[in-house]
Order: sequence, then C-alpha cells, then structure tokens
Amino acid sequence: MHEFRRRLVERIRNRGPLSVAEYMRAALQDPEFGYYRSGMRIGRNGDFVTSPEVSQVFGELLGLSLAQSWAAHGRPRPIGLVELGPGPGSLLADMLRATRLVEGFHGAFRKNLYLVESNEDFRRSQANLLGAYEPEWIDRIDDMPELPMYLIANEFLDCLPVHVFRKSAGGWQEKQVTECRGRLTFAYGASDASIDLTDFLVRPDDLRVGSIVEISPQTRELALTIGKRIGRFGGTAIIIDYGGWGTDGFTLQAVRRHRKCPPLAYPGSADLTAHVDFRAVSKAAGAHARVSAMIEQGELLRNLGIAERMHVLAENLSGSSLQVHLAAHRRLTLPIEMGSTFKGISIVPDGAMFAPGFG
Ligand code: SAH
Repeated sequence: MHEFRRRLVERIRNRGPLSVAEYMRAALQDPEFGYYRSGMRIGRNGDFVTSPEVSQVFGELLGLSLAQSWAAHGRPRPIGLVELGPGPGSLLADMLRATRLVEGFHGAFRKNLYLVESNEDFRRSQANLLGAYEPEWIDRIDDMPELPMYLIANEFLDCLPVHVFRKSAGGWQEKQVTECRGRLTFAYGASDASIDLTDFLVRPDDLRVGSIVEISPQTRELALTIGKRIGRFGGTAIIIDYGGWGTDGFTLQAVRRHRKCPPLAYPGSADLTAHVDFRAVSKAAGAHARVSAMIEQGELLRNLGIAERMHVLAENLSGSSLQVHLAAHRRLTLPIEMGSTFKGISIVPDGAMFAPGFG
C-alpha cells in the first residue's frame, strides 16, 4: 500500500498532478496495485456489502424481471446475457436459479453468457458459482457478438472514473490530485479542454460561481454503447447503482473495512466510488434506445413483489435466521437503508415495453 502511494507521489513529481479520474483509474485498476485487480472485496470479511449479498431475493426478482422482459420481446434466440462487474457472482447465480423455469430462457443464451470483470479473484469465484453455464470473460461489451443483449449491472457504474470541476469567476477549474511532502492532496488546476461539459450538464453556463460538478466520460461512453446495441439488436438493460438525477457536487468516497475513509488515504486498498448521474446515463443511452424513468430501489423491489417473496421464504425460518431475513428485507427497501440511495433504470429498444417493475 505504501509502495503504491510512493509511486503515485513519484509520478506526480515527475509528470504533474493527476485529474481525479486519473487517480481513480490508477487506484482501482493499476495492473499491480489496483483495488479491483484482486482480492475478495465484498461481504462481511471484505470492505462493503452489496444488495445481492444482503439477500438472494434481490437477484431472484431482477432475474425474473429480465427474463419476463425477454418473453415480452417475443423470446428472441440466440441472445447474449451479460453482467458488468459480477463481483463474487452471487447476483447472477440467484438470477439464473430463479429463471430456470422460464421456458426457453436458459436455452436462448446458451454459449452466450458474458462477464465483464477485472478482478482475478472475483473471476475465480464466478467460475466456481457459474461454471455450469460456461461463461466467457470479456473486457468490454463490444467484445460480444451482435445479438439481442440482456444486461444487468449492479454497483458497476459507481466505480468508473469521474472528473470534478468547479466554476470560478474566471471559468471552470478541474480538481486534481497532487502531493505535498510525500502525501497526496487535492488542488484545483486548469480543466481538461477535451471535455465538453454540455455533453453532461444542462446549461453549464447558467451554473453559479462556486458550483461543483462531477462528470464521467467513461460512463457516458458505456451508456452510449449499451443504448446503441439495444437499439440495433434488441434486448434489455437493468442498471442499478447509487446516485441520482443530475450531478450532485463532490461525491467521491472511499470505503475500507465497512468504514468511510478519506479518498486519498489508501489508494489500492479502499473502494473508491462516485454517485452515478442517471440523467447523463439516460441522455446517452436515450440517443438510440428507450430509457425508463429512474426509480428508487425500494419501489422497484416492491413493484417486483419483494414482500410476497420474503413472506414465502420466511415460512421456513425461525429465531435468529428469521430476524436476519426480516432485517435483509428492511435493508434492501427502507429509504434510510439502501431503498432510496440506490436507483435503477431500464433500457429497451424504441417502442418496446420496459422490464417489469420499471413502470
Ligand atoms: N455486482 C456485484 C459487485 C459490485 S462491485 C454486486 O452487486 O455484488 C463492482 C464490480 O465491478 C466488481 O466485480 C469489480 O471487480 C468490477 N469492476 C470494477 N471496475 C471494473 C472495470 N473497469 N472493468 C471490469 N470490472 C470492473
């Protein structure tokens, strides 16, 4: 860890400050030290817990929504089924278990199950849990064949790098990571001229001096690709993440062993995320496809019947396992827990129905 920080400091001394996006990319994806290159990061023994780790019901309901959407689109086959950032693989395992009885669905993606994953330990865990479905690991969506694409991504977009800008009286400045006596620290500098803020923001010129905005060209690129593929070949995407409609100031945060920590303190050994701007995602994907309204996770899961499913599972439980089960229901749906910080959208071809649950 100290070695990685030393190298980042060295690099800044030699080549100048990093943008926040460059820092995020290095901290998360450096081939040697990057946080998402190895390590079982998720779960009680990791750094943070995600919805599929809270309860199997999360994946079951989303799996059924995706499979029903496939049925509503006329059961095309073959299709490509893809997950972005599957982590340990439990979300997809729950989705696939729940959809076994959806006639024809598993046959439709046979030999065309794709996982986009950079972490070698997660890849191993995914191979263990999902090996029977013969998944193929790819680096990007465009490595998939041109088929109708059914896609799930939970907590993937929040790890994509963001640039941070502040409006000053003299124009926009970019937040950068620099060093001071061997420690990493933030400073403002000239902004990256290659970025056009109007691609991301509604009327940036009207924003007040002092406004801070975060934008993610990589997320926009990905949303464009998803929209273009679904628009051309058909399919459905379900994207869930924490964030909101529009940019929300400086939201970069680091989490290590279930606690927030300063974002520059532990490069390579803390998770680094930023709120997802669903308006930017929707605008990019919407250029070629139909994008649902953004919905809160709690409402989405209620629409998909979480109460009924939880009730059925509770019938076989008692004592502490029942308590854990009830707590999981609250955690996934209550506004003060994950119910409203997390949001979802669904992307389908123009004229098609959204995935169930998305209105
Ligand atoms: N979807 C899982 C895991 C979310 S954590 C869940 O809900 O539990 C983010 C996941 O994305 C991890 O699997 C991480 O290794 C992967 N990831 C992050 N950035 C990536 C990138 N640039 N390319 C490929 N995978 C990435």
